Amino acid sequence: MAEIVIDILPALQDNYIYVIRYGKEAIVVDPGDSKVVEHYLEEKGLTLEAILITHHHEDHVSGLLPLKEKHDPEVFGPKDGLVAGIDTFVHDGDTLSIGPLHFTVIHTPGHTKGHVVYYEPKRKILFSGDTLFCGGCGRIFEGNATDMYGSFLKLGELDPLTDVYCGHEYTVKNLEFASQLDPSNSLVQARLGSMREKKCTMPFLLRDEFETNPYFRVDEDGLKNALNMSGESSTAVFAEIRRRKDLV
Ligand SMILES: [Zn+2]
Ligand SMILES: [Zn+2]
Repeated sequence: MAEIVIDILPALQDNYIYVIRYGKEAIVVDPGDSKVVEHYLEEKGLTLEAILITHHHEDHVSGLLPLKEKHDPEVFGPKDGLVAGIDTFVHDGDTLSIGPLHFTVIHTPGHTKGHVVYYEPKRKILFSGDTLFCGGCGRIFEGNATDMYGSFLKLGELDPLTDVYCGHEYTVKNLEFASQLDPSNSLVQARLGSMREKKCTMPFLLRDEFETNPYFRVDEDGLKNALNMSGESSTAVFAEIRRRKDLV
């Protein structure tokens, strides 16, 4: 496989913009700030081939138009009519071949109706936007808990050894919340301890999410009991955890 490098560019308050580079070409994921990307491309002497957009929120797209004007990349994104500048609308199950990469598009509604994530199955990398955060999930703005739970079930099918790159650095807060929900879970405590040591927690392993992210564990008896919800449906448990997180 051709070599690729993924660089992590902190932007705005707690966003991450990702750049995948191969040779002198680059793909940018969710450019929330064009200046950060411009500076980086210039410094590395890269050509911008493509931009991938996960969803329409400003902090993920506001750099799109300036970058497009200057570099003319192909822009891929969801078809919800809310992002100006998309060249190719993507749908669940599409494969996007860009340079040496072959992304599978997965529609993950919940945070927004049109939200998509980009999965590269051969290289086991996932750009999860604001659907899956390390230890948590995005706030439910446009969909409902059933939508978001359905999205998590799709992500639960992916290779556990996938490296995940998400939209925000919320890891420590998410794991603190997870450990309050489920204080007897030693895996959550251990992961929280190790994440506290890091400035940037990207990427993280999907397998660790399956073990410690409460939204992936809504059908586990231990968690249900900790929430006094034994006998309740997984969707109800998912909705209750998200509701409690909104109150934090
Ligand atoms: Zn968002
Ligand atoms: Zn965001």
